[in-house]
Amino acid sequence: MRNYNTAKTYFETVLSKFPTEKCEINLNLNQIEITATYEDENYIGFDGKSTSTEGGCKHCGQVISMIKDYKTTCTTISKYNSKNILLRLTKTMYYCPDCHRSTTEKLLDVSGNQQKTNGFITNMISCLKETTSYSMIARMHKVSTSNLIRHFDKVELREAQVNPRNVRNLSVDEVRFIKLENANYQFVLMDGDSRKIIAILETRQQSFVKEHISGMFESLETISQDLWAPYRSIARSCYPGAKVIADPFHGVKQFMWAFSQTRTALAKEQGVKTNRHWKLLTKRYSNLDERGKE
Ligand SMILES: [Zn+2]
Repeated sequence: MRNYNTAKTYFETVLSKFPTEKCEINLNLNQIEITATYEDENYIGFDGKSTSTEGGCKHCGQVISMIKDYKTTCTTISKYNSKNILLRLTKTMYYCPDCHRSTTEKLLDVSGNQQKTNGFITNMISCLKETTSYSMIARMHKVSTSNLIRHFDKVELREAQVNPRNVRNLSVDEVRFIKLENANYQFVLMDGDSRKIIAILETRQQSFVKEHISGMFESLETISQDLWAPYRSIARSCYPGAKVIADPFHGVKQFMWAFSQTRTALAKEQGVKTNRHWKLLTKRYSNLDERGKE
């Protein structure tokens, strides 16, 4: 795939037509001399060039000063109000006489071939904590929605992680986030006390769940679940010491099911219509009026 840099294209075709002498901000970066500034209604751009005279060989670690070439990159540095700050930087490529390979210096905090600094990406991702849409945050940061989602997929959110070793009451259930080829449901593990999600497994398949959760917890006392046979079996085989509890939602559901079965069976036996007293029978006693109480 071609490494298409939209920021660079924008810089060269649009932004470079708006040079300015009176920009509100100054870019002060180590070993970078700013040679020009541009600004339009969406972007602030800087031209910069490296002032270094030597660098380290990334292959052997030696200090090298033989210049082989220059390389220009365009990186999104950060946001300033509603504008994105771009830096078009000319970096030096040094040649190592020992290993005969070249190294382009790294002057910004950028990972791999990214066209954004790590700071910018972190900032963008943290905006997703608000209740908002991907497209909104993407628009705010002037990136495509798919690009934002790609960055989000790579993130590990450490702060939200629950340490399974300390979990005493585990709640499990299935949810349907995505439909995979071999899994219609995902399996969710939650800490019943803090109500935080511990993990979401891609499938609720018994063998898969077993493999993942055995040995995960150390001090488990109870496991709340919907009493679906495979889940019960998982709980018994992985944590025989923990008590299996029907979660309240499914407990009530089970009761209502049994109650309505019995009610219709009785009504049929007596030859009465099954739907006549339904409303009455499912109301709280205190909510009934005088006639209902009779
Ligand atoms: Zn070298």
